[in-house]
Amino acid sequence: MATLGTPKSTIEIIQKYQFTFQKKFGQNFLIDSHVVQKIIRAAEITKEECVLEIGPGIGTMTQHLAEHARQVIAVEIDSSLIPILNETLAPYENVIVMNQDILKTDICALAQEYNGGKPVKVVANLPYYITTPIIMKLFESNVPLDNITVMVQKEVADRMQAGPGNKEYGALSLAVQYYAKPYIAANVPPNCFIPRPGVGSAVIRLTRHKNPPVQVDDPKFMFQLIRASFNQRRKTLQNGLNNSPDIPYSKETILAAIESIGLPAAVRGETLTLGQFAALADCLRHSELKELS
Ligand code: SAM
Repeated sequence: MATLGTPKSTIEIIQKYQFTFQKKFGQNFLIDSHVVQKIIRAAEITKEECVLEIGPGIGTMTQHLAEHARQVIAVEIDSSLIPILNETLAPYENVIVMNQDILKTDICALAQEYNGGKPVKVVANLPYYITTPIIMKLFESNVPLDNITVMVQKEVADRMQAGPGNKEYGALSLAVQYYAKPYIAANVPPNCFIPRPGVGSAVIRLTRHKNPPVQVDDPKFMFQLIRASFNQRRKTLQNGLNNSPDIPYSKETILAAIESIGLPAAVRGETLTLGQFAALADCLRHSELKELS
């Protein structure tokens, strides 16, 4: 079996198996081995490591991962790709293919079984229709993680990396940056895929923080505040939070909390840093305790 990563080898294998692309699975296969190499370099994979690949497709990146890592676990939802993967990955003894939905996979159990519970690296050319749920699952389910290096829509990569004052800054930026340090490693044009996606793509590496960069008593509540602030971007923070059904505080309590962390009454949510959202969340929670006592 020839190494994949060119238009010719990709077309040959999909014709041999009469594979038809499924839009509902976000199937855009990489046909450029330089891009694959860039992803693998950005992930900083070594021979000791265990890598989880989400959505191997026909196995293009999987072949390269198998050459660089100790163990590769590849989770693919589309059962019609499994016979293809059996052929393209036949030479590699360090690859396990699972025909499963990643959103229903117990990734902690996989890390335990194949890496003794030590941190794994995640590498993927992600299906774009579920980029955010996959990344949030990886962070929130406390999978032991070193870094996640993924191909995503360029616009989504920009949002993950944006800071206050940037028009891309939003709830996704803050969620990602609470858990990890983002770094955009490459921009990738549509002609590097079959079929060509309608949008530009980028490779982003998210290096998991050992400890969160801010301390907050109730992170879940902080994220509720963040979502409520950005849901009403054009409003002041005070009005945005007051209008939200998820934030059970009076306008006066919200204003007192905003002012007590040193911000002006008319501040907009989109200017707050993660540290300021954490301080605001703690302040509101403490005012609730005061109201109860
Ligand atoms: N890695 C391959 C490549 O780069 O050529 C394919 C990437 S393609 C953008 C996304 C892959 O994810 C497809 O193979 C698709 O079938 C698979 N996929 C989509 N949804 C999935 C899910 N929920 N769980 C696992 N795999 C999924």
